[in-house]
Amino acid sequence: MVRASASTATRSLFLVALASCAPERVHDRAAFVLPAVKATATAPLVVHDVPTQVARADLTIAPSGLVETMRDADLPVSLVDEVDDAFVWRVDLFAHLRAGDAFSVWHRDGTLVAASVPIRGDAFMVARYDGDLAPVGFYDKDGLGMTSALRSRPVDLGRITSRFGQRFDVFTGAAGFHRGVDYGVAVGTPVVAVGAARVKSVGRSTSAGNFIKLAHAGGYESAYLHLDRIDVAKGDIVGANVVIARSGNTGRSTGPHLHYELRLAGIALDPLATMPSSTVALGPLARREHLAFIKQLQQMEDTHDGRTHR
Ligand SMILES: [Zn+2]
Repeated sequence: MVRASASTATRSLFLVALASCAPERVHDRAAFVLPAVKATATAPLVVHDVPTQVARADLTIAPSGLVETMRDADLPVSLVDEVDDAFVWRVDLFAHLRAGDAFSVWHRDGTLVAASVPIRGDAFMVARYDGDLAPVGFYDKDGLGMTSALRSRPVDLGRITSRFGQRFDVFTGAAGFHRGVDYGVAVGTPVVAVGAARVKSVGRSTSAGNFIKLAHAGGYESAYLHLDRIDVAKGDIVGANVVIARSGNTGRSTGPHLHYELRLAGIALDPLATMPSSTVALGPLARREHLAFIKQLQQMEDTHDGRTHR
């Protein structure tokens, strides 16, 4: 769903010469309140947009899941949505994170500043870029934006009940191939277009129930099955993240869920294994600024005490 981005809190601008920004000099929160350093004539100027009150929480995902883990740590509930929003165009966190995984969240006054999560064994860190050299938003540690043409999942915080791949048919018991991902969501859950698209078809069948197929740029198609209510018609042009339907339990379905499929040139893809590429990247100067900021965040201590960050 379309959400307004979190408001930018008070900004403090510091002019810092690159030469004075050596990592060993910025190892705690004090780094954020260093007085401005006069730039030398030769070093390129970097305008740091550094928050003055950032808290860091290092957490381990409990068996109950990411949402419960953050709630149990007394982190603001709104942060869960912000973390999800920061990643959902590149990767579905809920499909990858497991109990026992370590992850870190940096926030300021309840607004997400950065997050680092393990994806396939590598730390995937994103941080908000708040400067003047590029659009404000989340970027990864390579300076790539966290937006893409297709979001990883068509529902908010959907629990995955069946993945893409070989499985036994729940009706016949026969081995078969599941060409999509099932999200166990209550009837009436908003279903969004994973990307800007033309509505290719809308219909009803005994197996798929009420369904929508969308045609996206680049030969991608997405399909949404077992819907309760459909809000679009064939030929409509829809924007990314726009609600197109409500999930249901229609057709050949054993319970309320959304079956979602993604195809490229007619071939079914595993939506959870597909890592869409970013459509935005920071320029060289903004990238240096962003990486210096990430380095400062990484060198912070865990400041979370589980009580004061509601
Ligand atoms: Zn399915």
